[in-house]
Amino acid sequence: MTTTGRCLCGAVRFTAEHVETHHHACVCGMCRRWSGGAAFLAAETSGTVFDGEAELGRYPSSSWAERGFCRTCGTTLFYFLIPTQTYLMSVGTFDDQAPFRLVREIFVDAKPDGFAFAGDHERWTEEETLRRLAPPE
Ligand SMILES: [Zn+2]
Ligand SMILES: [Zn+2]
Repeated sequence: MTTTGRCLCGAVRFTAEHVETHHHACVCGMCRRWSGGAAFLAAETSGTVFDGEAELGRYPSSSWAERGFCRTCGTTLFYFLIPTQTYLMSVGTFDDQAPFRLVREIFVDAKPDGFAFAGDHERWTEEETLRRLAPPE
């Protein structure tokens, strides 16, 4: 089943052949600053195709990843892992967000004390996150 989504103004639209609806929330300092909020809610996708490439900005935030945004409205669209060519799309950009469930919070020790996600999902510290998700050197 093809899943669809778009930015706030609609200049950038996307489709994905597969979406992992059990998603994670990254509360690291970079993701909080980038999203301008509490976290980046990231759903892994495959077969991801964009319509509106001219409006799609890509910011290289590290040697292994790019962060995508709409050049017109500024919507936080995705985190792209270069080694595996994987798009982690922002959950808030999908047209139907009802199927999504938060199953993991990462970099929890970087989160400020002023807010917290409820629920009994997994919570990984920075050390645990890097050990389990970092690309091989
Ligand atoms: Zn836009
Ligand atoms: Zn992060």
